[in-house]
Amino acid sequence: MSVLARVAAGRLAAARAVIPCLWRGQYFSSGKEPAEDNSVTPMLRHLIYKIKSTGPITVAEYMREVLTNPAKGYYVTRDMLGEKGDFITSPEISQIFGELLGIWFISEWIATGKNAAFQLVELGPGRGTLSGDILRVFSQLGSVLKNCDISIHLVEVSQKLSEIQALTLTEEKVPLEREAGSPVYMKGVTKSGIPISWYRDLQDVPKGYSFYLAHEFFDVLPVHKFQKTPQGWREVLIDIDPQVSDKLRFVLAPCATPAEAFIQKDETRDHVEVCPDAGVIIQELAQRISLTGGAALIADYGHDGTKTDTFRGFCGHQLHDVLIAPGTADLTADVDFSYLRRMSQGKVASLGPISQQTFLRNMGIDVRLKMTIYREQHLCSKISVHNMKSFLNEVISSLIIKDLLPCHLDWEP
Ligand code: SAH
Repeated sequence: MSVLARVAAGRLAAARAVIPCLWRGQYFSSGKEPAEDNSVTPMLRHLIYKIKSTGPITVAEYMREVLTNPAKGYYVTRDMLGEKGDFITSPEISQIFGELLGIWFISEWIATGKNAAFQLVELGPGRGTLSGDILRVFSQLGSVLKNCDISIHLVEVSQKLSEIQALTLTEEKVPLEREAGSPVYMKGVTKSGIPISWYRDLQDVPKGYSFYLAHEFFDVLPVHKFQKTPQGWREVLIDIDPQVSDKLRFVLAPCATPAEAFIQKDETRDHVEVCPDAGVIIQELAQRISLTGGAALIADYGHDGTKTDTFRGFCGHQLHDVLIAPGTADLTADVDFSYLRRMSQGKVASLGPISQQTFLRNMGIDVRLKMTIYREQHLCSKISVHNMKSFLNEVISSLIIKDLLPCHLDWEP
């Protein structure tokens, strides 16, 4: 708590958004809302061509194409965050969120013996806002970190968003190095002089003592959906509607499909979503942390293996039918934290998930908010304070994975 108080005293926080934006966890949809936009998008034409050539596609393939197709993907072509976009996230609401995470990373670094160097690795950094807030805390606590060699590594598939991240974090004071075909497709130096690199894949990030951060990243990874039937599990597929040639519809696979292997043998739900990509990433994180140390914090909308149909779309802060106008709306499915824990088991310790409210309260957000309100009472309207508090009520949870090595505490305030 004393760490937090020192940082809080040194800063004024300003709420970033004062509009009643839609949080991605706020609503639940089975994708059956009335269609509002029937436009035949380039992505819909691409998918119809694909389905006509090879048959119905899995929901995972649909999500992958719609979100990250290198030419037309939703994430690849636009900035979807914030007031003018499709949804809002905690770091875009207030810098307090990132500042508290920054403190958490520093306290982990201290608790595990003040390694001579660490990498901060963010998966899916959006506009770079969260890393920017964390880096500001690192600068403010420069005296604590002064002998530590820090580097920043961003895993991002979107060319568009990586350019925004570069602007946020480096202000391009030193010209960026770009090499489109290389695993490190961009390199630079942050505003505070820290080396920063961009990758498309976690596998390409150098191994070494690292803190990993994934905020609203796992929920956009492709999920396979399964329905229990009298014949056993059948995968939900996406096909062309035979009644309307430029419309998609859900169908059930006529026989078993390979992704069924990801369903637990003792599964009791009648509908499940499984995310093999999340399993690959969490195993890579666990492997890295067990070999070279560090920790990972995964914050997302999620559940502990209890929810069923969570696949939903967002466009312009409205819930959006997932099959309508693909490529113009965000697609997301709640993260199954029980699966992530299972996939990391044995290699690392996993803590949580705990609610965002509990995590932030444990980190002292109440004190931080009180100080902000006190200091900014002349600048801050009621609604902005309300917005800063609103992320406390969000249904996001955090899962933390850490190495199993014994740690010691030698924090000297
Ligand atoms: N973490 C940010 C943004 C969340 S949106 C925030 O909380 O504000 C999801 C982010 O993940 C975007 O930056 C998107 O481009 C990125 N992304 C989506 N799929 C990805 C993938 N397969 N690999 C790397 N980044 C991905």
